[in-house]
Amino acid sequence: MADVVLTAESMTSGYNGVAAVSDVNLTVSAGEVVSILGSNGAGKTTTLLTLAGLLPAMGGQVTALGAPVDHRRPYRMARRGIRLVPDDRGLFSTMTVRDHFRLARSTADRAREELVLDRFPALARLQSRTVGLLSGGEQQMLAIAVALLAEPRILMVDEMSLGLAPLVVEQMLPAIRDLARDENIAVVLVEQHVELALAVSDRALVLGHGRVVLEGSAAELLADRDRLEAAYFGAA
Ligand code: ATP
Repeated sequence: MADVVLTAESMTSGYNGVAAVSDVNLTVSAGEVVSILGSNGAGKTTTLLTLAGLLPAMGGQVTALGAPVDHRRPYRMARRGIRLVPDDRGLFSTMTVRDHFRLARSTADRAREELVLDRFPALARLQSRTVGLLSGGEQQMLAIAVALLAEPRILMVDEMSLGLAPLVVEQMLPAIRDLARDENIAVVLVEQHVELALAVSDRALVLGHGRVVLEGSAAELLADRDRLEAAYFGAA
């Protein structure tokens, strides 16, 4: 049986007591890539933050790695192996690549650092460059590399492609899928690039106005573009 590491059951979440997403059900297994798709304001980031324990669920239940997700103790979530790369990437623009590796060193040993650098060799060459001088793609690589240093079991990435050239997105997304497979990491992606995301995902759900309007395997969703478009643009 698949090793389920993340589940949401009837999850409702939002801001100041007002629901932004309602009744989300989701299961993610180790080694699997699941995408959360939807147009602007559909509730993708809200869903991701709630799954990561950074925003409290207003209803329902989120379970990660066998225990309920507790937004009051986000550090515990991190310690358990849940990492979220936010859409602003969470980097320090005046610090170098090496500084970021040093900061993460408390959670990583040298061997792990080397493994991560093997995966993103460009970062090895850019160690002394400050983040502000890196390209968007290099910054995204660094954000993911820093998350990987902690050997996460669940990796969530919010709008990885934000501000990146399509060619860079086409390189980065498959790298994420390979990561999930090679390291048996459960990956949850929030993406606006529907086709590119589905090409590297096992499954996906489409949100519309805070509700799941379509879900299925990536192959199923890609096979019925009309239905996918209708769900995405709100005609579903
Ligand atoms: P985008 O692709 O534009 O980032 P999204 O699908 O990630 O959109 P969310 O950011 O989850 O959507 O927003 C869902 C809804 O919640 C929107 O109506 C948004 O205005 C609202 N919202 C998001 N953040 C907050 C906040 N901090 N306080 C109040 N409302 C918020």
